[in-house]
Amino acid sequence: MNYGLSEENSIFRESIRDFAQKEIAPLVEEAEETGTFPRQLFKKMGEQGFLCPRYPVELGGGGGDKITECIMVEELNRVNAGIAAALMAQSGLATQPIYRFGSEEQKKKYLIPAIKGEKIGAFGLTEPNVGSDAASIQTKAVRQGDNYIINGTKMFITNGPICDYVIVAAYTDPTKRGVGINLFIVEKGTPGFTVSRKLNKVGNCSAETGELVFEDCAVPRKNMIGKEEGGGFVQIADTLISGRITYGARCTGTGQAAYDLTVQYARERVQFGKPIISFQNTKFKLTEIATCIDIMRSYTYRVARLYDQGKKVRKEAAMVKLFTAETLQKILAYSMQIHGGYGYMMEYAIQRHWRDGRLYTITEGTSEIQRLVIGKELGL
Ligand SMILES: Cc1cc2nc3c(=O)[nH]c(=O)nc-3n(C[C@H](O)[C@H](O)[C@H](O)COP(=O)(O)OP(=O)(O)OC[C@H]3O[C@@H](n4cnc5c(N)ncnc54)[C@H](O)[C@@H]3O)c2cc1C
Repeated sequence: MNYGLSEENSIFRESIRDFAQKEIAPLVEEAEETGTFPRQLFKKMGEQGFLCPRYPVELGGGGGDKITECIMVEELNRVNAGIAAALMAQSGLATQPIYRFGSEEQKKKYLIPAIKGEKIGAFGLTEPNVGSDAASIQTKAVRQGDNYIINGTKMFITNGPICDYVIVAAYTDPTKRGVGINLFIVEKGTPGFTVSRKLNKVGNCSAETGELVFEDCAVPRKNMIGKEEGGGFVQIADTLISGRITYGARCTGTGQAAYDLTVQYARERVQFGKPIISFQNTKFKLTEIATCIDIMRSYTYRVARLYDQGKKVRKEAAMVKLFTAETLQKILAYSMQIHGGYGYMMEYAIQRHWRDGRLYTITEGTSEIQRLVIGKELGL
């Protein structure tokens, strides 16, 4: 089924699938073992317009739509979720605020090089003591002449240890809960900005995740995204809505990878003199997985299409993230069960998807937060 995709979308899928197999798959084992992202991929993907496929060609992007970005993430996630995580942080979180709200100068200096893969970006909202309740962030930016002095700590930041710049959320006016927040672009090497630790994770090991510290870090006023103090929360919400749709593709990619591996295993594994795929229970589980994946993919594309049409999709984006991330947990549990004891062994690929996919009900807004958003939109 082609899900009503355009010809461009279908051609893009073939190209990115081919790229992922040829250029990414051979790098996965080393990246996972060492917990090091193969940085050359940023440039390689940027050169081909694969890195940020939905931004205009004039900015170095692929000139595609939101569905194109979803296809990119889905195909990369099938190959390796950690590598996909780092690349999707670049195509979304670390570029969207500048693309949508940045100045021409910021676009030239940060966005275009990021789209081309010449600069690596990160997005810092979460803090050691503040995750879901984002309006409670403690990082502050105080105006001093032509600079803002930033103080605070950001936690769990994807690409943090390898970034050339990070978009940091900070209060310019802490008396105005939520609305007093602004986003600032902070360059690597700015005095007072350090990567205090690289974090060891259970999964998504090829993505580098870190804790970032800002200590009397002076950032030029022109690095504030948006013209005025305040309004950063709207920029964050705009970025997260888009990201939640992309997350649908991420979950679909991992689900598809788990299905493919499980079908193959079930055909090869023989018990009671028959391949285990011949047992009705195995077939039932696999058909249920296939059904779930089809719905996940269709719904993700449907909401991506609405997003491209400029429709308000706050509720639907949260629904995509909630449904696909939660459904994926069932898919991964079934897949592990069908793999039996071998699935629990590190040498079988299914364990990686199981570890990687566990993240998705947590990051970029937990399932509970998606339920809160949906409930609010429904007026409940
Ligand atoms: C690998 C990884 C990469 C990440 N990358 C980034 C990044 O690049 N940039 C960034 O800014 N952040 C990033 N994050 C942070 C991520 O977005 C947060 O982990 C997430 O938002 C949840 O916040 P928390 O971990 O502090 O959990 P908490 O907010 O402490 O939540 C803990 C539990 O309490 C529940 N809970 C909280 N409030 C409520 C409520 N009102 N009602 C019901 N339940 C509630 C949550 O759902 C959760 O189950 C990353 C996290 C991870 C693990």
